[in-house]
Amino acid sequence: MIIAGIDIGNASTETALARVTDSTPEFLASGIVPTTGIKGTRQNIHGVFASLKQALEKAGLSVEDVDLIRLNEAAPVIGDVAMETITETIITESTMIGHNPSTPGGLGTGVGTTINIRELNKASKGDAVIVIIPREIDFDTSSAMINKAVAAGVHVNGAIVQRDDGVLINNRLEHKIPIVDEVGLIDKVPLGMRAAVEVAEPGRVVEQLSNPYGIATVFDLNSDETKQVVPISRALIGNRSAVVIKTPAGDVKERKIPAGKIFIQGEHKKTEINVDDGAEKIMEAIRSVAPIDDVTGEPGTNAGGMLEKVRQVMSNLTNQPPANIKIQDLLAVDTFVPQKVQGGVAEEFSMENAVGIAAMVKADKLQMTMIAEELQKELGVKVEVGGVEADMAIRGALTTPGSNKPMAILDMGAGSTDAAIINRAGDIHSIHLAGAGNMVTMLIQSELGFEDAAIPEDIKRYPLAHVESMYHIRHEDGSVQFFSEPVDPRTFARVVILKPEGMVPIPGNHKMERIVQVRQDAKQKVFVVNAIRSLERVSPTGNARDIEFVTMVGGSSLDFEIPQMITDALSRYSIVAGRANIRGCEGPRNAVATGLVLAYCEGE
Ligand code: ADP
Ligand code: MG
Repeated sequence: MIIAGIDIGNASTETALARVTDSTPEFLASGIVPTTGIKGTRQNIHGVFASLKQALEKAGLSVEDVDLIRLNEAAPVIGDVAMETITETIITESTMIGHNPSTPGGLGTGVGTTINIRELNKASKGDAVIVIIPREIDFDTSSAMINKAVAAGVHVNGAIVQRDDGVLINNRLEHKIPIVDEVGLIDKVPLGMRAAVEVAEPGRVVEQLSNPYGIATVFDLNSDETKQVVPISRALIGNRSAVVIKTPAGDVKERKIPAGKIFIQGEHKKTEINVDDGAEKIMEAIRSVAPIDDVTGEPGTNAGGMLEKVRQVMSNLTNQPPANIKIQDLLAVDTFVPQKVQGGVAEEFSMENAVGIAAMVKADKLQMTMIAEELQKELGVKVEVGGVEADMAIRGALTTPGSNKPMAILDMGAGSTDAAIINRAGDIHSIHLAGAGNMVTMLIQSELGFEDAAIPEDIKRYPLAHVESMYHIRHEDGSVQFFSEPVDPRTFARVVILKPEGMVPIPGNHKMERIVQVRQDAKQKVFVVNAIRSLERVSPTGNARDIEFVTMVGGSSLDFEIPQMITDALSRYSIVAGRANIRGCEGPRNAVATGLVLAYCEGE
């Protein structure tokens, strides 16, 4: 019979096609295409089909010849990356309150001019106001005052309350309004200014004020002003309630958005850590409470914005409310980002310290079954969900000539670094950690200030050279290469990426040495750290030293320097590490797909 193992990854969908006779597989061909959509969602089907077709064509077969398709039971994790400066962000034109009082009142967004509730009787018919209610005024009094003003034709569109009275006030109002309560420093709220108040439903997060264009809509901002409110909107992401107040230019003392704290809830312990303590301290904290239940950021801070943004992206992708999205692992790295100097006249940039994070959340397991069912209907071929991804990867890796049990693998993909270990008896234990190839690309992109990921991805994958004359280049290792034909004039005197298709000049005027440094640092910070972290976690003793052999699989193992870096780092733990060569011919690719076929032959 003909069987296809198909591995849907974050980045690639790989196929292993085999003819199985008497439980013995004869591998015919492989396929690889970029994954369509987010791993574990319906959109994957197109990629699965394309990957399968590619393998079938190579083998001279068609879909009708296939008897069985086995999909990976996708690791129930997806990863995302985010980056935030850890120095405080200074805002001048606006002030904001973004916090998560336990019980704000009302729902929706209200806009108006801030007014102390004691002055409410002075508002005229038709005025749009946001009332400020200090501690001295209780909910019975304040709600009565609001009802009276509304009856007189004043549009009371929202309230900012010092006490924890949001719900109590709202219950007594004839016209419901969004109410943000528990605002301790109510005296600091400027009066007579245009303000917007937003409250989301329980379990949801604000949408208008966490979006710079939402704020722009509320306050009629032009595009320059909109740019200025970006840090505000970011810091409000993930809050259930928020207030933004627009103050006249130059009027306000600086308002700072603090770097903020990260709260890590472990299964048994919990801890918190300041983001500006840096990546190393954050990772220590993560390690000290692992395994992790969830990670959250302090509301209204850069840390809060960063983590809640990740949660929101995941929530959108998986169609689950943000409250159901649990961050299971975090990789923090110290980095720096070029920042425009405030008040600069010529677009001056300075380098600001920042923390980049890769986060991973649990995704819905059932979706794989749904994909299998749909695929079966569409192709008319039996489709089943095979074993756990890491188990399959180990089986595949064991086809590397010279490998044997016990062994550990490192599967270095795009979104996560997975490790698994198999002992002599064949028991497998595995773990998924946040941070892999995408994180490296993001670090290169942000540190060198590129707009999108295309050039950074190439910088990651290929070595560089400097074009010194029309007829020679100097490689990054210092060697010089001469040509008999002149080089493309567009590359002259430029730093170029040596892609297989030819030389690609790098925009901007970064020095070659610096790009190399950034690239290598990024790889170290992500992969060496994760290799050690993950092996510690799968080692039966908790000590990486007790592992003897490691093979590396996954797309990032194709990198021209990552495997070497890891081999070096692991040699200090007396671990022998090397790149896998699946079935003796696939290199580090196709481990999971191959494993899916092998597991079938072994009757699993
Ligand atoms: P997944 O299992 O998550 O789909 P893959 O195993 O396909 O991931 O690995 C994808 C990652 O491998 C990406 O981050 C990509 O940049 C990286 N990658 C692919 N080819 C190369 C290469 N030649 N050199 C370095 N990195 C590579
Ligand atoms: Mg993979």
